[in-house]
Amino acid sequence: MANDVEPGCHARFRARRGARDARLMAVYRALREHFGHAAWWPGESPLEVAVGAVLTQNTSWKNVERAIATLKRAGLLSLPALEAISESALARHLQSAGTFRVKARRLKNLVAWISRECGGDFEALARRPFAEVRASLLAVNGVGDETADAILLYAASFPTFVVDAYTRRVFARLGFLSSSATYAEAKRLFERALPLDRALFNDYHAQIVRLGQHYCRRNPKCGACPLGPSTMGRVKCFDKNDL
Ligand code: SF4
Repeated sequence: MANDVEPGCHARFRARRGARDARLMAVYRALREHFGHAAWWPGESPLEVAVGAVLTQNTSWKNVERAIATLKRAGLLSLPALEAISESALARHLQSAGTFRVKARRLKNLVAWISRECGGDFEALARRPFAEVRASLLAVNGVGDETADAILLYAASFPTFVVDAYTRRVFARLGFLSSSATYAEAKRLFERALPLDRALFNDYHAQIVRLGQHYCRRNPKCGACPLGPSTMGRVKCFDKNDL
């Protein structure tokens, strides 16, 4: 029976959880100190952010930048223009983003959703219940957890944590997540440990991306990493041979 659990067990569990939460904040502070505050996500408008979140699926940000520049030159980075253009014509503008036919279809699906749900007014979207908006966005074909959370955080300013491949790699190596953790488990780790703060989630994700790009790569540069044991003391990564 749950009530038979000794109070001491609860206290130990709370203490362990408190220590883990503090370590997550310590990781953030070390990254921010090293990289500085990140003005993220790159994009001049919430619509551009949402478009970028779809285009970045399975490709580098450089390719996304090229595709967005092409859309801008063609006068297509507005809701009416994206609604009006056919899927096949849109695909021709997305060639630099890779899998451009798939992305054109996904983008058209997202544009239809934005039109229907808020008419391009992302501030109005942000006033609706988060769970309802997230569920509705996840029902859009081609929008998965990561894309949805990136749009909801960076375009609509909801406090929702974005988990990407860098997050999984870094926090598995740091010992916070198992290598088989699901998206929901990884997201829960951060959202339970940190204050539900949009600006913090925004910057923390950006810091993780920088760490993943510059240090915690497939072949990590642990010697120079701002989270190396010499910097973080108690926060230690697994031995390189375990990675
Ligand atoms: S010390 Fe190495 S494994 Fe740990 S976060 Fe840094 S680069 Fe990644």
